[in-house]
Amino acid sequence: MVKHIFITGGVVSSLGKGLTSAAIGMILERRGLKVSMQKLDPYINVDPGTMSPYQHGEVYVTDDGAETDLDLGHYERFTHAELTRDSNYTTGKIYSEVIARERRGDYLGRTVQVIPHITDAIKEGIRSGVGRGTDVALTEIGGTVGDIESLPFLEAIRQFALEQGPDDVLFVHLTLLPYLRASGEMKTKPTQQSVGKLREIGIQPHVLICRTEQPMTEEMRQKISLFCNVRKGAVIEERDVDFSIYEVPTMLVAAGLDDLIVDHLGLPREPRTDLDEWGAMLERLRRTTETVEIAVVGKYIELHDAYKSIYESLAHAGIASGVNVQIRKVQAEDILEEGLDLLEGAHGLLIPGGFGERGLEGKIRAIQWAREGGVPFFGICLGMQCATVEFARNVLGLDRAHTIEHSPDTPHPVIALMEDQAGVDKGGTMRLGAYACDLRDGSRVRALYGTDAVRERHRHRFEFNNAYREQFEENGMKVAGVNPERDLVEIVELPDHPFFVGVQFHPEFKSRPLQPHPIFRGFVAAAVQRARGGGRSTSVVAPRALA
Ligand code: GLN
Repeated sequence: MVKHIFITGGVVSSLGKGLTSAAIGMILERRGLKVSMQKLDPYINVDPGTMSPYQHGEVYVTDDGAETDLDLGHYERFTHAELTRDSNYTTGKIYSEVIARERRGDYLGRTVQVIPHITDAIKEGIRSGVGRGTDVALTEIGGTVGDIESLPFLEAIRQFALEQGPDDVLFVHLTLLPYLRASGEMKTKPTQQSVGKLREIGIQPHVLICRTEQPMTEEMRQKISLFCNVRKGAVIEERDVDFSIYEVPTMLVAAGLDDLIVDHLGLPREPRTDLDEWGAMLERLRRTTETVEIAVVGKYIELHDAYKSIYESLAHAGIASGVNVQIRKVQAEDILEEGLDLLEGAHGLLIPGGFGERGLEGKIRAIQWAREGGVPFFGICLGMQCATVEFARNVLGLDRAHTIEHSPDTPHPVIALMEDQAGVDKGGTMRLGAYACDLRDGSRVRALYGTDAVRERHRHRFEFNNAYREQFEENGMKVAGVNPERDLVEIVELPDHPFFVGVQFHPEFKSRPLQPHPIFRGFVAAAVQRARGGGRSTSVVAPRALA
């Protein structure tokens, strides 16, 4: 019998519900239990694929090619739960399914309603997210209790618990205890009201996790317990972490949450949660004193969530190299206006993926600076495409070389659509999900991965144009990874540079704190070398005029 945990949030959004859910998944996994993780999002978009990063942060891509919520990134970084397109449902996806059934006549002339048709579809969605062999399935409900759009989801999980039986379901509610500086106290009222809302719907949370800035006093715990009808021992404090989000699981275990969960769900008390390896990793992190600085030049740089997995991956690689990775966030457009001084002193340059023209020339300029100055460079997706364009213009001398995404009439379309893609519409035509990549013998990436074939996740439309492949290779930019089925260039590198790698895929989706991604590892290690060698990173060649 699969046990279910539902995690809701109250008081305010952005409490770190995704992170807390992931941490709960992890501590159960470290007790030898197999977990599934799922997110239900109340917004109406069918998936976040079409949403602006400003609205939603990064779009996280699963192996099977689903464009999902970034919380799934936390799930994969903390647990080994297998994530698929069934791991993320939105209101839009649920309604599309119900409406499609209605059009097919599946409801046999009945009136189609929120209860039971939408709530049934949500419950089906919850069941579909449970992977094979799962002991505990965790489902996080996005949004905040009290939102109109969350209601069908909350109603569905209430029904789910009724059908499943009280011992097999645990409701966890995450809230905030705001600290009022003026009176110097933390307030419990918003938590009481949020739990009140849940109880109105018919959900009595079993566990309250309270985000706090200050320690929770015994008296407050007592008060929350009384007003919210939750056992005192199940009122858990989750204090702001001061140095790493990876402390959250350790903190929850210290508060006894792991025992509480297994006891409630009737799961075995043994084995105990084993956080030894995790704790050792945190300890290494805590002891680190050396710092390297990586410039990330992007378009959505003001918003941390837009490049979340990239920042995390850099941190993981830092842990492996025994350094703190400090990130210098640089707005790509500013490079054209304010110049390369913005990059001065950085020990590495990373250009993430992206869409749209804004900032493109700034990215290309930054890449030229890194290539000519011997500064370690890592280009991801659009970052790799920009590196190709830069090399074409400035090394191959191909005037106005470009990607056809932004310059359909360029005389040198070094990034283009493949023949079989030409003429297709924009919507739903991206190359999404995991594809095979064969690594070339003797390449840097071959050595870093330690294997000759990998699978990596994609989310893009345009490709390296094979018509130019020979010209690039002859002039020093080597093709180091190729998709064997369609002969698509997946990785380029400059062997004569301290570290210069561009990848068409998104390695940031596969990095974990204890298993940093090999290319991130190699990149940060190269940045460390540069930092130790004095770290001079000014251009050795006078910058050329921009194309
Ligand atoms: N815009 C580019 C493409 O569609 C790159 C996409 C990305 O960086 N994710 O090919």
